[in-house]
Amino acid sequence: MIPAFFGFLIGTILGSLVKALADRSLREETFSGRSYCPKCKKSLVWFDLIPILSYFVLGGKCRYCKSRIGIEYPLVEIGMGILTGLLFFLNPIISPSLIFHVFFITILGIIFLTDLKEMLIPDSIILPSIGISLIYLMIFDNYFLDSLLTGLVIAGFFLILIIITRGKGMGGGDVKLGMFLGLGLGFPNGILALMLSFFSGAIFAVALIILKKKKFGQVIPFGPFLVLASLISLFWGTNILNWYLRFPNF
Ligand SMILES: [Zn+2]
Repeated sequence: MIPAFFGFLIGTILGSLVKALADRSLREETFSGRSYCPKCKKSLVWFDLIPILSYFVLGGKCRYCKSRIGIEYPLVEIGMGILTGLLFFLNPIISPSLIFHVFFITILGIIFLTDLKEMLIPDSIILPSIGISLIYLMIFDNYFLDSLLTGLVIAGFFLILIIITRGKGMGGGDVKLGMFLGLGLGFPNGILALMLSFFSGAIFAVALIILKKKKFGQVIPFGPFLVLASLISLFWGTNILNWYLRFPNF
């Protein structure tokens, strides 16, 4: 349990980073520079930036202008804490692969937020992440070619969908995200993530239409489904595939 707790603490710090990078990439700001209150623009000091705790100590308000701080700050910190804790629990030994997967879920966290908020997967986030993944895989992973091929297949599949549907429902960001998650998950987990994202996305879309929240043909961002499916594949992909393969093929 000690690795899991350690992972949780690291994850909460990464959660602050995820939220900051998501906001900054949507505002097209640089990623360096101190954190500040979005309302009064005052720079925050270190004790305003302790994950989860600061939010509750300050009662969810800015220390200076008393404007409300969104509940999404502590939620993202807790969410990233749980995910990173789970990652450390499942892989308790520090290795290049563990560090790479911490990086992988951090980037997925940022994309989840930006796509949910503005239906945007920023190039400033996803392109360097693809580059870093390629370098990591080339140096550390014996299955580099499998992962590269998985990424290309998923990205190519999305590209064909975009051409067929003339860009309705999916965008170039999804192509790049497909490449990234193919690299991060490899084969067969990357393909599993693709299938899970379509299942969950379709169920969600039908539910929205039935509940009359959306009309048929209206756009919902697909990135969040890809992110959730990728996380499930990362943590339980092998279990799901083993379970599935126990059944005789139809
Ligand atoms: Zn303020």
